[in-house]
Amino acid sequence: MEPGDKPAIASLDLAELHQCVHCGLCLNQCPTYRATGLEPESPRGRIHLVQAAADGRIELSERFKEHIYLCLLCRACESACPSGVQYGRIAETAREHIGPPGSPMAQAILHFVFTQLLPFPNRLKLAFALLRLYQRSGLQKLLRPLLPQKLRDMDAMLPAMAKKFFQPEANVLPAIGPRRARVAMLNGCVMPLMFGEVNAATVRVLRLNGCEVIFPMRQICCGALNTHNGENVAAKQMARRNIDAFLEAEVDAIVVNAAGCGAAMKEYDYLLRDDAEYAEKAKRFSNLVKDAGEFLADLGLVGAMTPVNMTVTYQDPCHLAHGQKIRRQPRQLLQAIPGVKLVEMEGSDRCCGSAGIYNITHPVMSQHLLKEKMQSVSATHTDAVVAPNPGCMLQLRYGAQTYGPNVTVYHLMDLLDRAYGDDDAETK
Ligand code: SF4
Ligand code: SF4
Repeated sequence: MEPGDKPAIASLDLAELHQCVHCGLCLNQCPTYRATGLEPESPRGRIHLVQAAADGRIELSERFKEHIYLCLLCRACESACPSGVQYGRIAETAREHIGPPGSPMAQAILHFVFTQLLPFPNRLKLAFALLRLYQRSGLQKLLRPLLPQKLRDMDAMLPAMAKKFFQPEANVLPAIGPRRARVAMLNGCVMPLMFGEVNAATVRVLRLNGCEVIFPMRQICCGALNTHNGENVAAKQMARRNIDAFLEAEVDAIVVNAAGCGAAMKEYDYLLRDDAEYAEKAKRFSNLVKDAGEFLADLGLVGAMTPVNMTVTYQDPCHLAHGQKIRRQPRQLLQAIPGVKLVEMEGSDRCCGSAGIYNITHPVMSQHLLKEKMQSVSATHTDAVVAPNPGCMLQLRYGAQTYGPNVTVYHLMDLLDRAYGDDDAETK
């Protein structure tokens, strides 16, 4: 940067920055501050840093980037803030201007994934099919010991790919019983590839509750990972494509069973606020988006359920509790299942350390938070953890294997499906 040049971040319209009164009430809710005790790793500290960068008082150095990217974007600070600071927006805007951290090679790989893989469902499917082949052919076992330590650790965290990817048998599936709603379902991200059975369960539960379920053909990944990592150009393209695909379906709601995706889709209106063609459509779209648990709790469950005798604890996915302010509805649904006993864990809304690709980019902090989380799970003495978000599910499964306790990790829709009897052939 030449002397006198203003950094790009100086041109930001960050009205959110000025809302912070620096009271510090968010500090103890912030996992990175709790772990390090350092002000620059707190929401208030990061807001100071972004303000200083916007004023041109500090450079956008690698150190600055590290502080901004050590944040998990869990948004626990937003829940704690009395001034209503929308910290997630500040961090995402800052990231958009500073670009990703890491070596040029790591940056190039991430950029490729964000712009050449995630926006293309067929490429994404191919990548996961290759991953499945790698795991199931025995190549993984053969190669893992030969990998450098960092890659070996990442390989160990890879979850086993599902035998089958989820593919709905038709693009329109009728309600079972009297129709109560017409909904479209998100099926463009990793859920159908890694958690196909959860998508299948969600469809069965929706249909048994009187929902006609539509799968808009042109939908793609929601772009949440892009937004969180400063890849906003691709994120906006993905949002526009989804808006066109879903609005065309003319539904009562757009149902999403992944908390991170739901939060991102509820914020398309913000993402596209300056887009003359899409701003209005984005508002309509975002108003239709509902988390699956939120939607079903509001609709009211119907139909007979059989007991699922299990003691469970509930992990609030950050993007559900803090991002979407949804805490009551999933618990309400769990308690509606006969036989399920819910035991609350301490800090259920504290991040498990998954946070998109954070567990790969920041393994030390991620594992520290996971270990703490598993201690909280252990203290509940339950059989299972319920977490309606794929990232949390993967992280908690890894946590149970690595740190214990020996609990099973479920999506909320898994348990509802079980209660409704998932062996009912008519519903499959
Ligand atoms: S973000 Fe909110 S809670 Fe944190 S220091 Fe600023 S005003 Fe206070
Ligand atoms: S989003 Fe989470 S990690 Fe980031 S500053 Fe807020 S509380 Fe801390």
